Amino acid sequence: MADITKEEINKMIKVAKKASKNAFVPYNKHAFGSCVLAYDGSTYGGCNVENSISGLGTCSEISAINHAIIHGKYKFKALCLYDTKAQISYPCGVCRQYISQFAQVSGKDFIIVLASPKGYKTMSFKELFPYGHYNRSDLDAVKSYAKRN
Ligand SMILES: [Zn+2]
Repeated sequence: MADITKEEINKMIKVAKKASKNAFVPYNKHAFGSCVLAYDGSTYGGCNVENSISGLGTCSEISAINHAIIHGKYKFKALCLYDTKAQISYPCGVCRQYISQFAQVSGKDFIIVLASPKGYKTMSFKELFPYGHYNRSDLDAVKSYAKRN
């Protein structure tokens, strides 16, 4: 697992917590925030966005990754998921696959920071999701994005 400092973790939690305040959650009213930490030290927040059609919403992790991509960042060292309720939550199956795509770009493991108002814990993404789906024939094209930042 890559190294991460306490300062980086605290920064990610702060960004994720701030993003959670903008979550669009009129149905479940369960706000999440996320933050990805790019290898250059920049951070990008995201929040969950619900939709009246169940399953059409977006998780905070995907929002944060897409936010980073808008800024041309594809290589991430860590991802934080902040649950506004006093509990640790794990990324859903869809997000695990989404994150795994970007672990392939960097060719390295992610650090996952699972946070709540009560504290946090860290774990390896590979431990959370050891076997992501990918097409071996597309791997070079996926990895080529690592050169962009
Ligand atoms: Zn998810």
